[in-house]
Amino acid sequence: MANQKMQELLKGKKKNFDINFYQSYISDLYSEINQKRQFIDIYGYLHRNVGYLGKSISKDGNDFSKFILPISWLFSLSTNLNIKLQDAFIRQYPGICPYCLERHCVCFKTGKTPLRSIPAYEMQEEMYFKREEFQNSRELFNFDKAVNLINDIFSVNEVIWKIAGEYHHMFKIHQEVAEVHEAYGNFKKAEEEKLSDTNKLLDVVNDEIADVFAWILGAWSIKYPGKSLDSAFIDYYLYDCPVCGAMPCKCGLRDMRPSTLIDFDQLKIVREKLIKLNETLPNHQEEISELIKSYENALNTRKTTTATVALSQSQEKLEELERKISTIGGNSHSSLSISEIIEIINTTLKFGGPSRFPPVSYIHVENMSHSRIQQSTSDSNQVFNFSSENKKEIVELISEIKQHIDELNLSLQDKSEAKADVETIETQIASPKPKSAIIRESLLSLKTIFEGIAGNVVADLLLKKMTGLL
Ligand SMILES: [Zn+2]
Ligand SMILES: [Zn+2]
Repeated sequence: MANQKMQELLKGKKKNFDINFYQSYISDLYSEINQKRQFIDIYGYLHRNVGYLGKSISKDGNDFSKFILPISWLFSLSTNLNIKLQDAFIRQYPGICPYCLERHCVCFKTGKTPLRSIPAYEMQEEMYFKREEFQNSRELFNFDKAVNLINDIFSVNEVIWKIAGEYHHMFKIHQEVAEVHEAYGNFKKAEEEKLSDTNKLLDVVNDEIADVFAWILGAWSIKYPGKSLDSAFIDYYLYDCPVCGAMPCKCGLRDMRPSTLIDFDQLKIVREKLIKLNETLPNHQEEISELIKSYENALNTRKTTTATVALSQSQEKLEELERKISTIGGNSHSSLSISEIIEIINTTLKFGGPSRFPPVSYIHVENMSHSRIQQSTSDSNQVFNFSSENKKEIVELISEIKQHIDELNLSLQDKSEAKADVETIETQIASPKPKSAIIRESLLSLKTIFEGIAGNVVADLLLKKMTGLL
């Protein structure tokens, strides 16, 4: 291939692109820059981009780059170790789960052991035959084929994702990335000590890299069902290096697009604009000067937390100022420049800013067959108010739950929890001052319990009734 541009490669050859092809393309593209990097540097980038994938995973929109980047670093890491990611992947996932050896993984039932009674020592033989079978099929093995394969074996992951949220899946990716590091350490140690099992330990690194790849592919198939990862990858590299546009890449060793950290240049712009604004609004000098001080502090210390707080606080303050000025009919020029500053602040906050600790929202997965979300309510914008209007509906709902509770096949624990929720709601309704928050909390708890029961007609009906209420 020798440093051919993506556009040239695309002419007529598109159908031949397999995972090996992508790896060699990335290897050509970043050959010069990656030669200066050690395994651990590349590993660091993989880790960074897996982290950013996690940050973006629950957001809407089609930011495919969040998947392309960790996959690209996985390629570079494989190249660094002379591993072919495609082969590593097929070795580990030849159309069956490497633990339970089934086409559709049943590890959640068997606890990661084969469903059929195969002794552990024969497992490798079975995997070997599967691999042979797989490699002999000679079909083009591209991303989409790999995505389908993973989706097929581990369709259970989609269920977990839908019930427990995407976090479980993200934890798994991070765990696999950690295991790559451990496997690499063992391999290096054996290599340095010239041990006889060095190659076998490299195989373990192979498997761990394949696992990371598999979990990322799985996330893609759930996040973007039906979307082609091949197309997304080719689009991303259509003009070769997306930063410098060259093939091979001419970027400096540490050049990169600002991705998630605060862009301090933007902060400087906001500070300058606030100083100007201060001159045009003599009546608000005190407030604006306070804001400017925060920016100065953030710029001096380069602390992301200070910067984020300064941005958020000034966003609030400026919106307040804008309202004041427009109501007292202040000069339109200042309100215009205020909205301009707010705009800059908004984009800086949107693209930058460290991940914040989630608001009081947490998930709690009990176990796989029984997963459920318990989500705290304070981050929701929904306002539930208990009123004479919904009282009738709630009373009706409660009586139906009581009537049908035995048909729900609830576990003892869930049943007593549901009963407690029902009692709480009844007590509140009977009280002279019913508290909406408590009623809502109990309704949500009931909803969570019902959502945990799959395919029960009564539960579905009750859930339908609840959606109108909450
Ligand atoms: Zn399995
Ligand atoms: Zn570049």
